[in-house]
Amino acid sequence: MIHCEGLVKIYKTADLEVFALQGLDLHIEDGELMAIIGNSGSGKSTLLNMLGGLDRPTAGKLIVDGKDMLKFTERDLVRYKRKSVGFVWQNNARNLIPYLTAQENVELPILLTGSRKRWRAKELLDAVGLSHRANSKLYQLSGGEQQRVAIAIALANHPKLLLADEPTGSVDSKMSNQILDLFRELNRSLGITIVIVTHDPELAKKVDRVAAIRDGKISSEMLRRRSYAEELAELDQEEQSHVE
Ligand code: ADP
Ligand code: MG
Repeated sequence: MIHCEGLVKIYKTADLEVFALQGLDLHIEDGELMAIIGNSGSGKSTLLNMLGGLDRPTAGKLIVDGKDMLKFTERDLVRYKRKSVGFVWQNNARNLIPYLTAQENVELPILLTGSRKRWRAKELLDAVGLSHRANSKLYQLSGGEQQRVAIAIALANHPKLLLADEPTGSVDSKMSNQILDLFRELNRSLGITIVIVTHDPELAKKVDRVAAIRDGKISSEMLRRRSYAEELAELDQEEQSHVE
């Protein structure tokens, strides 16, 4: 699904160059749920922004869905962002509107983007376990519930890839566990590939694979458990052999 090889990102400001990614290699399979950990400033957000087409790499290889992103036109980038990717940020709730209901908050961006292939707000709230709060005003929801609304919005365009940058940074540990459980569930029920950037080592324990970044490079990788995609492939094979 995603293949990075020797990925480089240099930010140029008036008086200095920042080497945010310095030859990063990473391969992400379709259907994986993975975490990226690393110290502040190590390049995690930069990587996520590249994967999501929010910014372009300076050099290297970045293949998404078999296509080379460095060769994307502006139009390709816009289309990719719109059709294939959902984003969740730490302070997503800030972009929500307190005096609208949860459902209205989800409906609004769907209306604005006017995408044809879209989910209904109600189904989305159901997918994130919030249907019972659909008619509550956003300000009446807890921090964790607001983050769920933000996740519902991120799913509205049927993304193949969900990118979450410190999605539990502003909620307590019980809540962040619940949010991680939700990501697992979405990964399994919808088959979405999910990449979560996190500081939280507890969170990183619950995903399929963890990659650590140091100084703009992957410094270690650990397989936690078999991904859902692999489990499914195995089931398929078993079925095949039954048929034979
Ligand atoms: P992390 O998310 O791991 O904290 P970032 O990817 O945000 O790290 O940043 C990596 C490095 O790139 C840092 O040194 C940061 O200051 C720098 N950086 C990030 N974004 C920009 C930008 N838009 N312009 C200049 N430097 C940036
Ligand atoms: Mg960051």
